[in-house]
Amino acid sequence: ITLKEALQLSKEELNKFKDELKAKIEANPDLNAYIDVNNVGDGIPIAIKDNIQVKDWSITSGSNILQGYIAPYNATVIEKMIQAGLSPFGRTNMDEFAMGSTTETSFYGKTLNPINKEHVPGGSSGGSAAAVGAGLAIAALGSDTGGSIRQPAAYCGIVGMKPTYGRVSRYGLGAYASSLDQIGPMTQNVEDAAILYDIISGSDEKDSTNAMKDDKVCENLNAQRKLTIAVLPKYLEKASDDVKEAYAKAIEALKSQGHTIIEREMMDAKFDISAYYITATAEATTNLARYDGIRYGNRVEGKNLEDTFIQTRSNGFGDEVKRRILLGNFVLSSGYYEAYYVKAQKTRHIIKDAYAKIFEDVDLILSPIAPGVAPKFGELATPMDMYLSDIYSISVNLAGLPALSLPISKNADGMPVGLQLIAAPYNEQTLFDGSLSLE
Ligand code: GLN
Repeated sequence: ITLKEALQLSKEELNKFKDELKAKIEANPDLNAYIDVNNVGDGIPIAIKDNIQVKDWSITSGSNILQGYIAPYNATVIEKMIQAGLSPFGRTNMDEFAMGSTTETSFYGKTLNPINKEHVPGGSSGGSAAAVGAGLAIAALGSDTGGSIRQPAAYCGIVGMKPTYGRVSRYGLGAYASSLDQIGPMTQNVEDAAILYDIISGSDEKDSTNAMKDDKVCENLNAQRKLTIAVLPKYLEKASDDVKEAYAKAIEALKSQGHTIIEREMMDAKFDISAYYITATAEATTNLARYDGIRYGNRVEGKNLEDTFIQTRSNGFGDEVKRRILLGNFVLSSGYYEAYYVKAQKTRHIIKDAYAKIFEDVDLILSPIAPGVAPKFGELATPMDMYLSDIYSISVNLAGLPALSLPISKNADGMPVGLQLIAAPYNEQTLFDGSLSLE
């Protein structure tokens, strides 16, 4: 059932549904969508990515280093959900500290794609995407630092939405790259995404980067609005034929509903990768410094305090996280700071300006979200291959924009092909209105 339908259920119907859902999850252990299932509260069950705090429940961020840590308070999004009659239901698997594009870096094993188990579910919110895609959740929360909501949603054939940076409170979200992270909805359809977005968004004094905006979208949802939508023929060149076909199909659908399509150009996506991986690793290095074995979770006792830090971090972090800590320290170190970090920040501004220029005369941009369909396990052979698979998702985070990815078609092997619509800052209304045309 959809979130909209669930909101109409009586208490008895809801309890019956929750029992069935639990049984269904237990009958599908091989997907490994959940790290833990535990019904907290009597509201509509929502799956929660394992980097969002639910009071008195374990939270691991997919890492060994946080095993045994219990969240001392609710994230703001959880408080807002509970007030709206929703309840955290299960904690979904994710790449360790949200670093990855396939959910393979989780300490708790890989999650499989529910459409075809030989394929990755995407990442880092792969557990949330697989749970919704497999019918093991009505809806889920994910977090998106560089595509982690939108890309797994596309790979699993569901809807994923990243709000404008600052729309949704980050209080209680395990920080990866603080200037990029946003929590957002992962749902079965666009309307459910709008409902969940309305519930979790809004002002919060506990997050200093919160935009303190409380306007909502559901009341005014309008599938009949005629919009001007930019398409990016040159930007599309790096995408697979599957994506190009879906793109052509989406343009036809938008035209047939009376939208105006105009061609624009976006700067080469290769700069996005460098700017993103320098910014994200620099911020991650700082954010992960707090996991020292003293304050949170797992500790390996060493000979002295320093040795305890070293043993705890060497043992607690996985390879990908260590790689990023090294990279982040390198780009922040004296002598390299100007050459890498400062340059990445300048590039970030150029990307932001390039989007702003396009939005001077369009409402939305139609873009790929990934270069192809979900890869098979083992297909991305090196870390670099994995980073490069993010070309179409990360500029949206660097520019702080809202974007929604949704399934457009299936390729010859039955794998879902998704695309994203991107809107100007705080223009979620237009984003949802336009997305309704592509369902
Ligand atoms: N794949 C990207 C990374 O590994 C994005 C992850 C995310 O959005 N959390 O950094």
